[in-house]
Amino acid sequence: MAKPKYGIGVDFGGTYVKLALVRFTDRGLKIDGYSKFQTCDYNRDEVIEQLVIRIIKLKAESTYKGNEVKGVGIGMPGRVDFNKGVVCDLTNVPGWKNVPLKDILEKKIKIPVLIDNDANLMALAESKYGAAKGYQNCVCVTLGTGIGGGIILGGKVYRGGSFAAGEIGHMTINENGPLCACGNRGCAERYAGNRYILEEAIKRLRGGARSSLKDKIQGKYSNLTLEMVAAAARKKDAFSMILWQEIGAHVGVVLADVVNLLNPDIIVLGGGVANAGTLILDPIRKTIKERAFKVSRQNLRVGLSKFKHKAGIIGAAAIGVTGKENQ
Ligand SMILES: [Zn+2]
Repeated sequence: MAKPKYGIGVDFGGTYVKLALVRFTDRGLKIDGYSKFQTCDYNRDEVIEQLVIRIIKLKAESTYKGNEVKGVGIGMPGRVDFNKGVVCDLTNVPGWKNVPLKDILEKKIKIPVLIDNDANLMALAESKYGAAKGYQNCVCVTLGTGIGGGIILGGKVYRGGSFAAGEIGHMTINENGPLCACGNRGCAERYAGNRYILEEAIKRLRGGARSSLKDKIQGKYSNLTLEMVAAAARKKDAFSMILWQEIGAHVGVVLADVVNLLNPDIIVLGGGVANAGTLILDPIRKTIKERAFKVSRQNLRVGLSKFKHKAGIIGAAAIGVTGKENQ
């Protein structure tokens, strides 16, 4: 067996920044060291300082085990110039406009750093080691507060001309629909994003809809969670079952377009909303079947993420190990 390779992955989220030392071997991968801190506890320069301290500490752990870390990969929640290693802007974290993070970190930690969009790295992790392993063309969709997308074509990440590809959540499903945070109307995210699903459920419950959820929340609508809606649907609560069918159909409409456009081999779904499992998978599959060209979808697989919330950190560590040339 070849010697294991170590990479450090950083998953930079709006709530937490998570770091992991990941060991890659012929047989697979393993997380050997882990650390995290709250993003809002620090300003931008302090976040960078925390990254330096924690990366050096994780690097020391790999040296202790007799292996050098090959590199660091960082997944950012926004647009990144992958070639230059510059963070262009982040959607939900202020203070990160045009930051040359790769250069700043490399000067301090003396190992190669690669920076990419987090959805790209999730797609990379699933395609190299996870649910899409063995497939050349894969679209990875994260269904959470927002809806993100990472695209792998011919085994490589497709980033687009200005590193903005994969905004599946902002594809229009209703041209005159409600206003989205992006400024457009009727985006998929506006119908199937975590927050909007709950808003819609609450609106219907307040409007007099019958559901077992009413007993659960006892009039406190703010207590309603997606997990509750999923649990109720599994117990055959008609209100909740219909809601999941509608959400799945909304996502399916967009994915049918994606299938017609890219003809992927596999679509992998991750993020909190995908934890609903078959409740959302079944209507997504049904809608794609109804709407996409037969030739484009007849060999298509639609499945759930293998690495779930760890996909980003694993993909980040993976580009740290393999370097830029192989991406
Ligand atoms: Zn939008």
